[in-house]
Amino acid sequence: MKKIVKYAHYLHRKGFTAGNAGNISVLYRNKIMDVVAITSSGSCLGTISEDEIVLLDLDGNVISGKKPSSELHLHMNLYKIRDDINAIVHTHPPYTVALTMKDIRIERPEGVPGNKKFLEEIPYYRPGSIELANACSKKLKKEKILVLKKHGLVTCGSSLEEAVNLTELVENAAKITYISSQ
Ligand code: 13P
Ligand code: ZN
Repeated sequence: MKKIVKYAHYLHRKGFTAGNAGNISVLYRNKIMDVVAITSSGSCLGTISEDEIVLLDLDGNVISGKKPSSELHLHMNLYKIRDDINAIVHTHPPYTVALTMKDIRIERPEGVPGNKKFLEEIPYYRPGSIELANACSKKLKKEKILVLKKHGLVTCGSSLEEAVNLTELVENAAKITYISSQ
């Protein structure tokens, strides 16, 4: 939980989220029970504290905390279909989103595994909707990065560090593309 708070503050400080946008989750797999920790809905990642993190089982039952992120379905779907994923970061990085507004695709950053030259992007769906969660899980069967048109970015990893690193790499690639296109 401390780690989620640390990286939430970090991502907000970097400008990858603003206000109450974005959410983070981590899946703690253990023999007795798998537990998902996710930021609560409406929380500001810049000022979030441990008591604003909700714990749930993999069926979505709340173990402790208040209202989980509105993107809970997106996070849960992914943990169910990928046993190599233990952390998910959803942000609204400005350069990444700006490129989706201009219909410019973002190139896969150097060193990020994957066959396709450009990152996967999905059309706009209402934030927090089941349609968005389902569209994401279809595309994230093999990928660790998904660009959400006119909305944001989803990255995942075997660790929270990996998911955060991918977010930074994508936003940096988007920034370079944006600046060089001016
Ligand atoms: P939550 O505050 O409910 O996590 O929603 C933020 C967001 O970015 C929705 O897409
Ligand atoms: Zn969002």
